[in-house]
Amino acid sequence: MIKKAIFGGTFDPIHNGHLYIAYEALYKLGLDNIIFMPSGNPPHKLGRNITDGFLRYEMVRMAIREEKRFEISDYELRNTDLSYTYKTLKYFNSIEQNTMWYFLTGVDCLMDIESWKNSEEIFKLCKFVVFNRPGYSMKNIQEKKSEIERKYLNEIIFLDVPLLDISSTNIRKSIKQEKNVNYLLPEGVYNTVKALKLYK
Ligand code: ATP
Ligand code: MG
Repeated sequence: MIKKAIFGGTFDPIHNGHLYIAYEALYKLGLDNIIFMPSGNPPHKLGRNITDGFLRYEMVRMAIREEKRFEISDYELRNTDLSYTYKTLKYFNSIEQNTMWYFLTGVDCLMDIESWKNSEEIFKLCKFVVFNRPGYSMKNIQEKKSEIERKYLNEIIFLDVPLLDISSTNIRKSIKQEKNVNYLLPEGVYNTVKALKLYK
């Protein structure tokens, strides 16, 4: 059976933390492909000004160019309504029924998964994968993981990888403050952000 993952995110901008966990997932889970899915209209980020979807898409495309098992989809960007993970997973399950679907997330997503629309359905549509991320104690993570597993009667795959303290929020903040962000982003993304004066 083919094993594929969807890696959803705002990717505003995509950074090396994203690429690092995607690559880890590829190997640790033996995936055939990972589909990067820039979100169109993320319900949890309605209050913030998000960079145009086309630009975020282009930055992701640029970032994953060298790894042929990394792919990109504009499924959520093409949809004008709010992006919901359960909907995306439902769609991909329906078009590729013989594929085992995984969904990649950082631990911050595990912490608020109960607020995601139809979260119980998400666990039926994929194997939910959680990566460690700075700022969470192992005790809290394990407790939350067990709680969710009991609540939704599904197993969560937790991957404890070396922590990379990189977030798009911090990158945007640093750029605004004219601090260096070189090497936190893939080179092409860094150059694009600079050339277009994004996040200034
Ligand atoms: P923002 O600060 O704008 O929320 P972000 O860095 O969290 O940006 P997102 O696009 O929100 O990036 O993240 C997409 C997915 O990648 C989420 O599941 C998030 O938890 C995960 N992720 C992002 N950065 C890391 C990291 N450094 N380590 C592990 N997971 C990460
Ligand atoms: Mg985030």
